[in-house]
Amino acid sequence: MTTLFISDLHLDPTRPAVSRAFFELLEGEARSADALYILGDFFEAWIGDDDNTELNQQVAEALKTLTDAGVPCYLMHGNRDFLVGQQFAAQAGCQLLADPSVVELYGKPVLLMHGDSLCTSDQEYIAFRAQVRSPAWQQAVLSKSLEERRALAAQLRANSKDSNSNKAEDIMDVTPEEVVTALNEHQVDLMIHGHTHRPAIHSVPTQQGDATRIVLGDWLEYGWLLRYHNDGQYELDRFAIVP
Ligand code: MN
Repeated sequence: MTTLFISDLHLDPTRPAVSRAFFELLEGEARSADALYILGDFFEAWIGDDDNTELNQQVAEALKTLTDAGVPCYLMHGNRDFLVGQQFAAQAGCQLLADPSVVELYGKPVLLMHGDSLCTSDQEYIAFRAQVRSPAWQQAVLSKSLEERRALAAQLRANSKDSNSNKAEDIMDVTPEEVVTALNEHQVDLMIHGHTHRPAIHSVPTQQGDATRIVLGDWLEYGWLLRYHNDGQYELDRFAIVP
């Protein structure tokens, strides 16, 4: 009785080893899990569900095989794949999960986030996030041709400070006060997120006592998998990705 959490795979045709490691997880350990949660930046980029690349199709099919076998899978948007929509989710048999969401894990409420909303020291990014998450902006973008969207995505990436890498030092860490605010607002003492590429398990002092913040890691040379068991025990596992 175990629920699995992953994030920040940044799946991309240029990193086939990461895709292979993901498919191995789906064909292996995930088949006996109670559920699989993917907490954002699953894809390096997403310009619309109509972008039927070979990789996107393979990922949808692999997830569908898992969900058809009776393992529910939940997808949360990240700051790179926020345009993943209902069409892809249906193809993959997955459910889209709002950011933030509180879910019950074996009776315990847990706050799930991608994590970018906790990084409030980058005001420019927070403004950008609000823009690209607005339904009006998304509709306007999705009404453009795939070619136009590809050009726009390239332009957005060029404007972004971390355009050339996913290295942790280029990505802001969370604002500690924002973590406490989120825990209080949702009245939980456990949260799980990704985004920062700083995998760790933190103890967070709050007025209600110590809470726990589990940070998932990004996949590149290593993959990261959180196993949360029905007895409340958990482990954040790092494993090598075979090139
Ligand atoms: Mn991210």
